[in-house]
Amino acid sequence: MDIKKIGVIGAGAMGTGIAQVAAASGFEVILNDVGEDFLQRSVKMMDKSLLKLKEKGKIEEERDTILGRIKTTTTLADVKEVDFVVEAVFEDFGVKKDIIEELDKLLPPEVILTSNTSSISITRLGALTGRPSKFMGMHFMNPVPLMVLVELIKGIATSQETFDQVKTLAEAMGKVPVEANDFPGFISNRILIPMINEAVYVLMEGVGTVEAIDNVMKLGMNHPMGPLALADLIGLDVCLFIMEVLYEGFKDSKYRPCPLLKKMVDAGYLGRKSGKGFYDYSS
Ligand code: NAD
Repeated sequence: MDIKKIGVIGAGAMGTGIAQVAAASGFEVILNDVGEDFLQRSVKMMDKSLLKLKEKGKIEEERDTILGRIKTTTTLADVKEVDFVVEAVFEDFGVKKDIIEELDKLLPPEVILTSNTSSISITRLGALTGRPSKFMGMHFMNPVPLMVLVELIKGIATSQETFDQVKTLAEAMGKVPVEANDFPGFISNRILIPMINEAVYVLMEGVGTVEAIDNVMKLGMNHPMGPLALADLIGLDVCLFIMEVLYEGFKDSKYRPCPLLKKMVDAGYLGRKSGKGFYDYSS
């Protein structure tokens, strides 16, 4: 199928980035969220991001031309004319379920539906639809305009044809697709989040300080950020949630969430977004 128009559901951090990159790659976009204020905030974020990219010479087109390809709407039914959909609403099975079932009713049967979920089973989401062979994961990284990777996740029923079309689309959006099968955490979070969790254990056991742990990984392993600084950026609640998904999914004690991570989340120390995590952001 020739994809020209893309529907993006959810105009938060990820949906905004996906819509922006799709439009900058020449696709028409319909961006949906529940409230006009969310959509306005999203357009402002895109405008700011495109301005920076333009200043750095990373995009040639004018911002208005790119933004002109994006239509925003609070009515989900407006996406019924798109050729392809990426769902990027809250990481909550119930919220995603309602939207995916609704989209499945609205969209012609040949349209591919994808989810940007970080941790929910693609097979489970695909099984909510009458088109599980045309359902898969398209896991963009944050911030979408800057990160080149997109993890493409095949559910048990996803067809090779669907996978190939989404791979072509990801490349047309300037991304480098990587294939993953549907197991908890896929590839990215299966490796990243347990590494962060282990760093929290190392801290809890007094093996090293926050600075020592992050410096070892930055200066010794060439990671651009230490795992604790990265945890603060991702959000400690999100890290804990994904650890719990891994633990629940595999029932293997190697995925048990670190008690210190849990304690910090209980205290409301969620990282940058709350002003305090492993580092202090209050200033
Ligand atoms: P977010 O909270 O920033 O945005 C979610 C958006 O969905 C909000 O604007 C909300 O209003 C909207 N929404 C909620 N219910 C809706 C509905 N019924 N219809 C339309 N819109 C609705 O979340 P995010 O960080 O953008 O994450 C979105 C998805 O992307 C999640 O599945 C998350 O796991 C995944 N993800 C996030 C990251 C990240 O680093 N933030 C990275 C990769 C994948």
